[in-house]
Amino acid sequence: MKKSIFLLFVFVLCSWSCTGQEGRTVDKQVLDKAFDVFREKSITEHIFTHSDIEPLIRKREGSNIFSVRELGTSVEGRSIYRLRCGNGKTKIMLWSQMHGNESTATMALLDIFNFLEGRNDDFDELRSHILENTTLYFIPMLNPDGAEKFRRRNSYDFDLNRDAVRTAAPESVILREARAEEEPDFGFNLHDQNIYYNVSGTSRPATISVLAPAFNREREINDVRRRAMQVIVGMNRLLQEYIPGGVGKYDDTFEPRAFGDNFQKWGTSTILIESGGYPDDPEKQFIRKLNFSVILHALSEIASGDYEQYRTEDYFRIPDNDSKLTDLLIRNVEVTGREGEHYLTDINIRRGEETPHIADLGDLSVFYGYEELDASGYTWMPGKVYEKTYSSPRAINPDEAMSLLRKGYAAVRISSSEKDEKTDLPLLLLGEKENLSEGLFLGRPAYFFLVKDGQPVYAIADGEVIKL
Ligand SMILES: [Zn+2]
Repeated sequence: MKKSIFLLFVFVLCSWSCTGQEGRTVDKQVLDKAFDVFREKSITEHIFTHSDIEPLIRKREGSNIFSVRELGTSVEGRSIYRLRCGNGKTKIMLWSQMHGNESTATMALLDIFNFLEGRNDDFDELRSHILENTTLYFIPMLNPDGAEKFRRRNSYDFDLNRDAVRTAAPESVILREARAEEEPDFGFNLHDQNIYYNVSGTSRPATISVLAPAFNREREINDVRRRAMQVIVGMNRLLQEYIPGGVGKYDDTFEPRAFGDNFQKWGTSTILIESGGYPDDPEKQFIRKLNFSVILHALSEIASGDYEQYRTEDYFRIPDNDSKLTDLLIRNVEVTGREGEHYLTDINIRRGEETPHIADLGDLSVFYGYEELDASGYTWMPGKVYEKTYSSPRAINPDEAMSLLRKGYAAVRISSSEKDEKTDLPLLLLGEKENLSEGLFLGRPAYFFLVKDGQPVYAIADGEVIKL
């Protein structure tokens, strides 16, 4: 008998600590498990459009959990929706992708919709804790026209995050009116930042950056802003378990035209989440999971009032964001200049969306790379163009390409328009009359060699390091 009471006690304690009830925070293991179950499986890559997600929103019309409303349309006529759920007194509004190429949180919101709709499982207590204590208003993909072309701005070429006051774009009107109608207590402003942000003073990417935006130039802290800071302290605690040292705090300079700053000013405690980079996560699927977990965690802490225990001092202890990362940083390369002189340089290579290129040169000792190579003792060599012209990149097999690299060839000429096709070849493809630039300069395609004792030891091809 005593044993069974003990076991019952253990069971109650466990379910209590795992579900966010009674002032306990929800833990990482529970959130990891929930993500595995509820991730929206039709979205697996970070580029998708309005037509990919609209059915996932519309299918919730008439659901027991959600009410779906079309708030209006974008410049090009795409519907912008609001999904409401929960019956609690604390109102929370979450909006994503006001910048069309910032899609990570939209994926996580779709996962959260699935989560909130689940029932009769291990997550019932967490789910009902959130839904009984809060009312949630989701506006996923506020800028569907930008998302259509996977670009930041809307169809007017406006940055919507500079249109909160003038509200000249329909998407801005929608967000501003959605806030005015419900006057939410909390707001989550969900963005992506570029992957080159690091946590200040470290080589770690700022995989998640946070901010409780200022509501005035003096950057004062009133109750509204303080609550946002407290929620962020709780978020940071959870995030440190996933990405130790990988959370940065955004600069809080007041931007009078931005939505976050104005939401804060209008009385909604507003939390900015910026999804950055993480090694080997080009599709941002790990960062999607971080968004899922940290948002649910924050909703749970708001639902219970747990966030009130946190101190603003701990918000200010979160290290600043910096922007000192690149894709590949090669340090201490010796270069022979035009007059035969020798000098030392570091080489910053950005892979980006286009051809990888040299983005910076000189003393780059304060910068960091996702990948780094110490090239002390190596000399830079531009590489040669192979004498033979090929009809198509497909006429070159991978072994032949490697053998060309070993002989110091960095480029081949292709006689057809197929030279512009994307290939896996580690060679720069040139037109019949094109040449490979001799010098080392900014913007140069990232194809070259590092040489020791006259022998090419490393090829840098398409921004990748290949040991020869
Ligand atoms: Zn943004």
